[in-house]
Amino acid sequence: MFITNYHTHSYFCDGTGSLEDYVKSAISNGFNILGFSGHAPLPFENDWTIPDNKLNLYLKEIKELKEFYRNRIEIKSGLEIDFVDQLTGPSSEYFRNLDIDYSIGSVHLLYNSDTDEYLGIDYKKSEIEQLINETFKGDTKLLVKGYYRAVRLMSQQGEFDIVGHLDVIKKNNTESIYFDEKEDWYKREIEMTLDCIKSNGQFMEINTGYILKDPSRIYPSPWIIKIAREFSIPIVLNSDAHRPQRIDNYFTEAVKIAQKCGYTSKMFLTGEEWKEESII
Ligand SMILES: [Zn+2]
Ligand SMILES: [Zn+2]
Repeated sequence: MFITNYHTHSYFCDGTGSLEDYVKSAISNGFNILGFSGHAPLPFENDWTIPDNKLNLYLKEIKELKEFYRNRIEIKSGLEIDFVDQLTGPSSEYFRNLDIDYSIGSVHLLYNSDTDEYLGIDYKKSEIEQLINETFKGDTKLLVKGYYRAVRLMSQQGEFDIVGHLDVIKKNNTESIYFDEKEDWYKREIEMTLDCIKSNGQFMEINTGYILKDPSRIYPSPWIIKIAREFSIPIVLNSDAHRPQRIDNYFTEAVKIAQKCGYTSKMFLTGEEWKEESII
């Protein structure tokens, strides 16, 4: 099986380590292919995306590393592009015109109409609570539905390859403090979203980034992976590494989870093509 990871964050955005540190870590862990997916620039100030004026340098460094390490590992240039309704997304002209090999589409932010700012849904609890209390008038269900609606809009607008951490909205939902994944309305949101991803031909990543000790913290939850399998949505295995040592974070466990959910193959990008390979 090819060892690959297309979801990594260096010091160009909110990760630690240089791009070359990642390449070295990938090589020493026996990787065949490594993709870089720094957080794409956003049209407002923040401290976690690649700044506009550093994007060219990021792409240039990847190009140089591709060439320098070409006999030892295949390197791919990508971005994790945020979708914010009516503001920016993978289908924005700016990103469509970039010379990159692939992209991940993710929703991390929702608009808070009360304060006219964009708040993180997978960041601080205080931001999630501000969204619930101000934008969604105390109704957590509306926040969750707002999140999945944004994922579906992103999927419909297309121009990216992989849907990032599909159910990242659960990140702060420890012990179901905000919502219960088992409720019917939540399952319906998931089904509608997977249906949309399937019709638009995108892949879903199995994201191990937030597994610290408990593999059930995988994105998305195993019961969602099972439904994705029923929809025949292809998967990509990614670790969302924010430091080079996490390059293959819980990959063995993740493959087992995918198998248990019925998956027999995963996708990988090589040359200019996404290919399928067996994981059993
Ligand atoms: Zn992300
Ligand atoms: Zn990421």
